[in-house]
Amino acid sequence: MAKKTVKKTAKKAAKTNKMVYAFGGGKADGNGKMKELLGGKGANLAEMAGQLKLPVPPGFTITTEVCTHYWNNKKTYPKTLKADVEANLKKVEKLTKKEFGSEKNPLLVSVRSGARASMPGMMETILNIGLTEKTIPGMIAKTQDERFVYDAYRRLIMMYSDVVMEKAAGIEPKDGEGIRKILDGMLGELKKKLGVTDDTQIPAEELKKLCVEFKKTVKKVLGKEFPDEPTEQLWGAIGAVFASWNGKRAIAYRNIENIPHDWGTAVNVQTMVFGNMGETSATGVAFTRNPGNGDSHFYGEYLINAQGEDVVAGIRTPSPMNKWSSNAHSAHLPTLEKTMPKVYKELDAIQKRLEKHFHDMLDIEFTIEHGTLWMLQCRVGKRNGTAAVQMALDMLKERLINKETAVLRVTPHQLGELLLPAIDPKAEAAVKPVAKGLPAGPGGASGKIVFNSDDAIKLQAAGENAILIREETNPEDIEGMRAAAGILTQRGGMTSHAALVARGWGKCCIVGCSELELNPAKKTVTMGGKTYKEGDFLTLNGTKGWVYDGALKMLEAGEGNKNLAAFLKLADSIRTMKVRANADTPEDAANARKFGAEGIGLFRIEHMFYGKNSDAPLFILRKMILAGNEIERQAAVNELFPYMKKSIKETIKAMAPYSVTIRLMDPPLHEFVPTLHAKQLELAKALGIDMKTFQDRAAGLHEVNPMMGHRGIRLGVTYPEITEMQSRAIFEAAAELIKEGIKAVPEVMIPLTCDVNEIVKQKAIIRRVYEEVVAKTKVKKMNFSVGTMIEIPRAAVLAYEVAGEADFFSFGTNDLTQMTFGFSRDDIGSFLPEYLKQGILQADPFQTLDQRGVGMLIEHAVAEGREAKPNLKIGICGEHGGDPESVEFCHREGFTYVSCSAFRVPIARLAAAQAAAKEALAKKSK
Ligand code: PEP
Ligand code: MG
Repeated sequence: MAKKTVKKTAKKAAKTNKMVYAFGGGKADGNGKMKELLGGKGANLAEMAGQLKLPVPPGFTITTEVCTHYWNNKKTYPKTLKADVEANLKKVEKLTKKEFGSEKNPLLVSVRSGARASMPGMMETILNIGLTEKTIPGMIAKTQDERFVYDAYRRLIMMYSDVVMEKAAGIEPKDGEGIRKILDGMLGELKKKLGVTDDTQIPAEELKKLCVEFKKTVKKVLGKEFPDEPTEQLWGAIGAVFASWNGKRAIAYRNIENIPHDWGTAVNVQTMVFGNMGETSATGVAFTRNPGNGDSHFYGEYLINAQGEDVVAGIRTPSPMNKWSSNAHSAHLPTLEKTMPKVYKELDAIQKRLEKHFHDMLDIEFTIEHGTLWMLQCRVGKRNGTAAVQMALDMLKERLINKETAVLRVTPHQLGELLLPAIDPKAEAAVKPVAKGLPAGPGGASGKIVFNSDDAIKLQAAGENAILIREETNPEDIEGMRAAAGILTQRGGMTSHAALVARGWGKCCIVGCSELELNPAKKTVTMGGKTYKEGDFLTLNGTKGWVYDGALKMLEAGEGNKNLAAFLKLADSIRTMKVRANADTPEDAANARKFGAEGIGLFRIEHMFYGKNSDAPLFILRKMILAGNEIERQAAVNELFPYMKKSIKETIKAMAPYSVTIRLMDPPLHEFVPTLHAKQLELAKALGIDMKTFQDRAAGLHEVNPMMGHRGIRLGVTYPEITEMQSRAIFEAAAELIKEGIKAVPEVMIPLTCDVNEIVKQKAIIRRVYEEVVAKTKVKKMNFSVGTMIEIPRAAVLAYEVAGEADFFSFGTNDLTQMTFGFSRDDIGSFLPEYLKQGILQADPFQTLDQRGVGMLIEHAVAEGREAKPNLKIGICGEHGGDPESVEFCHREGFTYVSCSAFRVPIARLAAAQAAAKEALAKKSK
């Protein structure tokens, strides 16, 4: 597949040879659809100038293909580029009635980057290109403003020497002091000497002198004269922008945002317009709707007598566009609506047209030069989760978009923002993490650190937030984990015990934080060079896996939640795949229903031994595990039966009338052997054995590799009485519910199957027990099914055979990933980060389904399974069931449902709807 894509792109590139696209004067060579070739900025400039005939300063775009050529050919350009640029510059000169390099009427241009996907601030921009010793007098004569011209010149020297002469030339500044910093320092000194705070207050004479000093300094520091030829400046700037595609910042950003490195950037050369020509000039940034809360009012800021970089630099407080844009800092400042009513009206009309045209919220940049409005940029605006949901619903109501598009307007990540408590982004941006681990349970948590479960419980009882720090967690920690606001472990992977449980509860959790130096006995932990003791504050960002010193400000869960239900209802109206939850208790089931689950896709029986009131059943389970013979085991099994039946019954009841898939026990035996001496003694006593025998039996349970050991259905094969008891608990629970008039259709699921014969044997037991229960309880009719998990590659490969005996498949992708990669899911912390860092793997396969490898096994199993049984019900219950990309994969493969932890159900509902929406839109566009 990868090969095919490469060929296609190469062919496409060979077909196009136009390298420069002009825009301006009501015309454009390109249009808004040409983002691949012209970049986002270039394509939208063309659309604004050509299609919408908006006031766009004339210019041209050099394509992204030229960037690719530049990097593939030792930083050189295609032969004809020079002539093309010259011809297009002539067009600009004609439209502006100015001339590049002219002594009398000079044209100045800006040179900006613009990739296919927006990479804000990651590449370079150079303004005022074309100002030289020769053109300066002409500019002064034209503008009648010497101060302005020298200010523009000092800006050019500052930007150009930094971006072109230093960065693009690969000069490493001595002592870390780059030329920009040096020149900034000189400017600052001058302002201090003159006693002014604002650049606009520096008189022309002083600026003129400063420019001379600047140029001397550039020569001294960089060893080169500042170029005084307009054409040299232009080509220097173009090269610097292309070079900035592979700058450190840009590469790092692309890695984070998954932007391909071979896309390249376009270069936009555009006539300069000036917002800093006095009180009738201004510059600003605006959004067609409020990006912070989604309100459908024009929203933005502007600065009188300023250039774009002044807005970004944040030196002056910008004024609000209108009354909807003012905040505590700007309420006293005059709005654009008041100061320049005519321009405001024009801008307002333009922003309305832009929204109608692009069918989305746009982020626009504009400049007002002597009262004339110019549009410099428009692009789809970034927004937070609350705003995204509000806008999607509003735009649907306004018929600006259809419902498929509305559903696609909110990313699963944005939806997640609405569902969890989170660290205030402003507070987080101001500090650096002290340690990093794996992001196991999303959201944020802040509180006092504790080192054991009891202390977490005590702290919670005292009404305080606890951050529970453990080396790793085991079932005995469960109460403490529940009580804690956040969990941090030194060991473990994304599907390790702590991660699974925490995610199920929607709890913030970081695992595998191997940088921690933990001393549980002393109750201290050292990270980032600081030692923390019990009661010190830490803040966790479970979405990123980052740990912060102290208590950062938090936002409430569901802040801005009012539209959530309406939006999810819309998503549900499009989705074709069902969404179930992984839930193990009646409380979890009830919770899952609140989040919209349509059944339980995975009820892990052994989880009833974790959590509240679990002491009695856990104790009996331990007796069962440590039984020395069949009689002891049978006794324990009998004792366990009523608890199990009750737990199953209550959970089915909480989920009725939806189906519940009950998985036969798959307990990692070693996890259940008590570690505390007192508990060991108590258990030994109950079993009637001495401590020595106890230790021997516990040692007998020790496995070199428990994940591949005596677990899953292997337990039922060796101890059929355990399967029998579970089947009886399930059927009796269902029978009693049926008699109470509650719908109960149990789905019995066999875990960790590797061969169809395992199913044949277990089904014989299950069916026999079913007949016995029906005879005993005299229920008239009970529907049930027996299916299997597909967790072992062999079962996936032999799916045709397996489907012959199974009523349904549920892909257990935690184990399937573990066994396909041969990566122990509990031990990835020590090597997976390196795999990601070195680019060996693109993503953690335990978080996002590996569609190439594991996905191929699934694809095969689905095809074979459905061939054997066309109506085979197919689901997924591994952690990937809540991961948006994986959900989309499941939709494409024709799954019946996905199942994930309750808190991820809304995300899965959205992801399933988005997969269906994409399919529907693709069909419509055909
Ligand atoms: C799985 O393996 O994907 C699964 C759901 O089972 P467990 O996580 O309990 O092993
Ligand atoms: Mg499993």
